Amino acid sequence: MLRRIIRPARRLPIWLLLSVAAPFVFEVILHLWRYNVPRPASELDTPFFTSCQEPDVSAKRENAILVMLARNHELEKANKTITSIERQFNKWFNYPILFLNDNQWDPKFIEVLNKTSRGLATFEVIPQEIWTFPEGVDANAAKQNIKEQGEMGIPHAGEEGYHHMCRFYSGKFYQLEVLKKYKWYWRLEPDVDFNCAISYDPFVQMARHKKVYGFTIALWEIGKSCPGLFRSVADWKEMMGIPTNNLWKAMVSASWVPFPFRRFMSWLPHRDAYGDEWSLCHYWSNFEIADMDFFRTRAYQDLFDYLDKKGGFYFERWGDAAVHSLAVAMLVDPRKVHHFEDFGYRHDHLYQCPANAPGGQLPESQLLGSGTWSPEMDNGIGCRCECDGRVTSNYGGYCLNKLKQPTTIKRPWFTWLL
Ligand code: GDP
Ligand code: MN
Repeated sequence: MLRRIIRPARRLPIWLLLSVAAPFVFEVILHLWRYNVPRPASELDTPFFTSCQEPDVSAKRENAILVMLARNHELEKANKTITSIERQFNKWFNYPILFLNDNQWDPKFIEVLNKTSRGLATFEVIPQEIWTFPEGVDANAAKQNIKEQGEMGIPHAGEEGYHHMCRFYSGKFYQLEVLKKYKWYWRLEPDVDFNCAISYDPFVQMARHKKVYGFTIALWEIGKSCPGLFRSVADWKEMMGIPTNNLWKAMVSASWVPFPFRRFMSWLPHRDAYGDEWSLCHYWSNFEIADMDFFRTRAYQDLFDYLDKKGGFYFERWGDAAVHSLAVAMLVDPRKVHHFEDFGYRHDHLYQCPANAPGGQLPESQLLGSGTWSPEMDNGIGCRCECDGRVTSNYGGYCLNKLKQPTTIKRPWFTWLL
């Protein structure tokens, strides 16, 4: 009697379960397949050079400028960066340097940096109307929100100036009167080391190889700083009917949740309207060598204006690195993005440092001069790098390799561990 009462309901036959699940599983596989990044048959973005070059000091220069945004109190750190780039690059190529500040420059800063810069140095103050809350953003509400973001411990999010900076680098700098006449720029920040000799002109090579955007380090964005950014960019992409290219796919981690449930995932941060997620991987924009004409295109400017109206530069802490990266991924052919993997670069505690090219150090070169450098190693591509090429933090990581998939042939799976 009792047994009859508690007898479980008859189990559903396994074939029924499978036939209900099969279309969902099939749909998920198909969905993941759509986000698979096809590998090219040959390498589509290799270093411009893989050993030292005799600096061609008489070659024609590109229409380019080095740009550093800084504050007066960053004098020492700014000077360190300029000392480094002059020693490793600009003493041969003499490109002009533009220093930007939202405040009046301290004469001491101008004096010191003028001395260190061998290329013509200019010190500009950013017009007030660019470095402020835009129309449509309630300044008081934004200030209050910025305070709260700071209390939540989001890095830099409690500093009003930092928000203005991110907005400035996302959508304004390339329109400055002083930059209008230039096509190329190399972004510098205070407290940077260049650890290798840069013995060729990267602007000339970018132009020759039809590149638009160059980077050194790729890493994950701090998720809390920009929960709504990806959704806004993806919505704009959808609105404009921009086709999905392989670099965009490489930025996205496709959802494993089957349709139609996947759509509910879109309520979560960093998801598009279909529920797929940005991996947060992006190019670290404190180093950039890029064609400003890309930022000046109608499409980019339109995207920026759209983002600006969303208010996320203030009510969240959208970073220019993430904005640039998502825009590049969406709008630029992956073959036009260049990884400067032969550059030694350090900022804060992150760095990339290649091993030196065996037999490629031009020890007799008068221009490169005498000096010491780290050991040369098999497969090294660096020129006189002063760091241990076996330690290339952030170099072989998953994030970087993911973004390089559209231009890199497939290697055995374990190489990313090396
Ligand atoms: P992080 O690299 O993202 O940790 O941030 P930084 O403190 O290095 O700032 C990034 C860049 O923006 C640097 O070039 C800073 O000098 C500059 N920056 C940040 N906030 C301000 C600001 O309020 N005024 C000015 N003039 N520059 C700023
Ligand atoms: Mn910095």
